[in-house]
Amino acid sequence: MIIAIDGPAGSGKSTTAKKVAAQLNLMHLDTGAMYRAVALYILDQDIAESHLNNHNQMSQILDGIEIKISNETNNVFLNGKDVSIQIRENRVSDFVSEVSAISLVRERMVHLQREIAMGNNVVLEGRDIGTRVFPNADVKVYLNADVNERGQRRFKELVKQGEEITLDAVIRDIESRDLKDSSREHSPLEKAKDAIEIDTTKLSIDAQVNEIVSLIETNN
Ligand code: C5P
Repeated sequence: MIIAIDGPAGSGKSTTAKKVAAQLNLMHLDTGAMYRAVALYILDQDIAESHLNNHNQMSQILDGIEIKISNETNNVFLNGKDVSIQIRENRVSDFVSEVSAISLVRERMVHLQREIAMGNNVVLEGRDIGTRVFPNADVKVYLNADVNERGQRRFKELVKQGEEITLDAVIRDIESRDLKDSSREHSPLEKAKDAIEIDTTKLSIDAQVNEIVSLIETNN
């Protein structure tokens, strides 16, 4: 069984997907973490901007990247190193949409996502799960929320991680990421026609989780 949860940054995808998966004993795959790992690699290797748009160079760069996600902890390993904390840093958030817009990056990540999910019961969360990765998913949900509310949520997470940042800067980053993710040429962020949209602005996490769990149970 494949459950697709898509939506913009801060819509509550990760927390919700994790809880839904735990409640129904399904695997959980955070596909954003994979794009973040690629972005982190490019930043840390100081790869020149010009290489990103060169097909052969980008292909070589991607050949040097191995991403693994632990089934139990969801920790992300980049070439064997646990980068679960680093991929959440603000410098990665600022850069990831540029990386995820590259078609070759998307091809490789989508291939990996299908490989991981195939034959399993999985809740996948991302931007293009219901539209591109698994267009025949059993249940498709599109989570959305007011941008100020999404900014508040993300701001609290970043402060907890010790980042020094203002709420305004976080909201600006989210708006810029939304724009880049939804206007890119390849697999832009959009609601699949057959996805059920849930506005989480005023919903608690438990309410979101319950709504999705009952959607899945009705579908089964
Ligand atoms: O979900 P999260 O905010 O961690 O995702 C980080 C970025 O990864 C997104 O802003 C988007 O650019 C990219 N992404 C994507 N397709 C997905 C998941 C994430 O392009 N399926």
